[in-house]
Amino acid sequence: METQIKKLDYERPDEKVIAEAGRIILAGGLVAFPTETVYGLGGDALNPESSKKIYAAKGRPSDNPLIVHIADKEDLYRIARTVPEKAEKLMEAFWPGPLTMIFDKNELVPGETTGGLDTVAVRMPSDRIAAAFIKAAGGFVAAPSANVSGRPSTTTAAHVAEDLSGRIEMILDGGQAVIGLESTIVDMTVDPPVILRPGAVTKEMMEEQIGAVEVDKAMIAPDSGIRPKAPGMKYRHYAPKADLTIVEGRTEDVTEAIRRMVGETMSQGKKAGIIATDETASCYPEGLVMSLGARKHEEEIAMHLFEVLRRFDETDVDCIYSESFEESPIGPAIMNRLLKAAGHKVIHV
Ligand code: AMP
Ligand code: MG
Repeated sequence: METQIKKLDYERPDEKVIAEAGRIILAGGLVAFPTETVYGLGGDALNPESSKKIYAAKGRPSDNPLIVHIADKEDLYRIARTVPEKAEKLMEAFWPGPLTMIFDKNELVPGETTGGLDTVAVRMPSDRIAAAFIKAAGGFVAAPSANVSGRPSTTTAAHVAEDLSGRIEMILDGGQAVIGLESTIVDMTVDPPVILRPGAVTKEMMEEQIGAVEVDKAMIAPDSGIRPKAPGMKYRHYAPKADLTIVEGRTEDVTEAIRRMVGETMSQGKKAGIIATDETASCYPEGLVMSLGARKHEEEIAMHLFEVLRRFDETDVDCIYSESFEESPIGPAIMNRLLKAAGHKVIHV
């Protein structure tokens, strides 16, 4: 299959292209589309055959449910069995935006879309192209991140093409995803609600609206053997080809430790890479240094993380050492992805 790539102007997306993308979805095909978090690999959420195609295109295990994207808050009531009052408050505060909520599903949503679960994850993206596309596609677009399973999520159309060219009908190119990390996922079927995946909408932001919000224990203690409630969180993710290690501690100690480890790696005849920031990039005289952006602008770090992981895959480095990013509101979301990419290999200095 030849994948068409259509560049769209964010301010005035071409209506003909959007309509064509919508028709592909309604006919059971797949279209990758931009959102403010990452690119999505979309299919008709109400068509079981479309969901099966999504799993096949990504090579994704079929027990890992898809998020249903809507463009109109009212559409939530068509697929959720019940919408708790707290969910309505969160919807009011954060939709459209980078928050996915989980509800009990009704029979309109096929089990193929939800990985066989009785619940459904729903999000209303704020990206204008995404909203227009979802409307044109009938209002319910199932979409996981538009990457081959196990690779970093995609934040540009070029990354999507790298992974999915020839496997899907169309890619809508809306430029760089501005957040760059997947949405926060919160389970609203329990009270207090539980965060299953951290993202740009933080625990504190939600608590300001609805009081106590908990965090899935499997997310905090990855080696505890506790089964995560978001099935996708149990899979190894984002892993670069090279061996990634995160180094934690005071900045001066971290840069010094990384310099030493890079030296050791090179003395073994191996190639080393470093994930740094604009503030520290010049501290590393040896090794291939890639900066995520300025540490003082945490949004830049989030936005560039997946891209840098992908760029390292194009090189022949054997080991990558990364600085860490605990502070800042989006820090937990950044560290969640980085820790997964590193298989939780962390050195404290
Ligand atoms: P992705 O769209 O690739 O970011 O993956 C979607 C994430 O949402 C995965 O981690 C899924 O496990 C999670 N998810 C989707 N639907 C549900 C659900 N009904 N219950 C729990 N987690 C879900
Ligand atoms: Mg994903």
